[in-house]
Amino acid sequence: MPGAPTCRDRGRRVVVHAPAKTNLHLAVGAPGHDGYHPLVTVFQALSLYEEVTATAAEPGSGVTLTVSGRGVDETPLGASNLAVRAARALAEHLGRPADVVLHVHKTVPVAAGMAGGSADAAAALLACDLLWRGDLAPADRLDVAATLGADVPFALLGGTALGTARGDRLEPVTARGELHWVMAWAREGLSTPAVFTALDDARDAGRAPRRDVLDARVPPALAAALADGDPHALGAALDNDLQDAAVALRPALAGVVGAARGAGALGAVVSGSGPTVAVLADGADHAAELARVLGAAPEVAETRHVHGPVAGARQVVGADVSPDHPSLRGR
Ligand code: ATP
Repeated sequence: MPGAPTCRDRGRRVVVHAPAKTNLHLAVGAPGHDGYHPLVTVFQALSLYEEVTATAAEPGSGVTLTVSGRGVDETPLGASNLAVRAARALAEHLGRPADVVLHVHKTVPVAAGMAGGSADAAAALLACDLLWRGDLAPADRLDVAATLGADVPFALLGGTALGTARGDRLEPVTARGELHWVMAWAREGLSTPAVFTALDDARDAGRAPRRDVLDARVPPALAAALADGDPHALGAALDNDLQDAAVALRPALAGVVGAARGAGALGAVVSGSGPTVAVLADGADHAAELARVLGAAPEVAETRHVHGPVAGARQVVGADVSPDHPSLRGR
């Protein structure tokens, strides 16, 4: 049986971190019969990491979970936690028992539009595969990831990528240079389904343009900006169909986007389904300045200067290295 526990596995542990994301482009089609919205999106992985530790457990003990860090109170601890679901899905795929002790350390705010829960799932998937010696081929790991949620495959892959279908069919995109982002966090999360429903309602009422046909390519202006490593052109090319819906549910977000532009940001866009606003800076010093200005805005709970693109889920080898550790920057 692949990954059957042995004596030398007792107490063995694997630590994996996986990045948060933002969307440089997010086009949303009309929902299909299954209720899912087809998407064409361009993801970028950011230097803000979730960390999952998987420790070998006694046979028959099942999956146990502890959580620490940001948003613990809003994170489900039972079977619905995406890290638990990932461990179980992998065990089923490998045809082995799901015996593991998981610890999730959260850095990404919950329900922020940065796919923190999906990063937990991706990290748990890789950690359990390494712990159980499942030796899954990367393509198979992506397939298992896609069963857990549309953003999970990207958290495994990282970099910059075009996502189609539900956002889970991925193609890497060439991106030169390092982008500096200021993520402006809200005091409270937004429900992703509620934001999609608000978009559908606005379209049904004629308040938002329909997208009956999706162009499954990176928009040419965005592709050129990424290939050239031109943050000015990139700032102008950012767009998100969910932005107005997120603003309708949380009007203060319009003020954050306006404040970012007023402070000289190269671009500012709601991240995914929000309520985080992703603000593009012209280098590290500019990002520090934008973080200072936006941090003082009453609607903003906290700002974080991050960079992208970074790699997808990776094992943290060696001692107890925090995912924020400078040695991990730029991986
Ligand atoms: P999405 O990926 O759906 O756009 P998001 O990035 O806005 O979501 P997440 O923090 O990933 O937000 O979580 C969305 C919801 O998923 C939460 O409200 C929570 O109930 C559930 N959830 C399940 N597992 C986790 C997890 N490990 N961490 C955070 N939330 C989780």
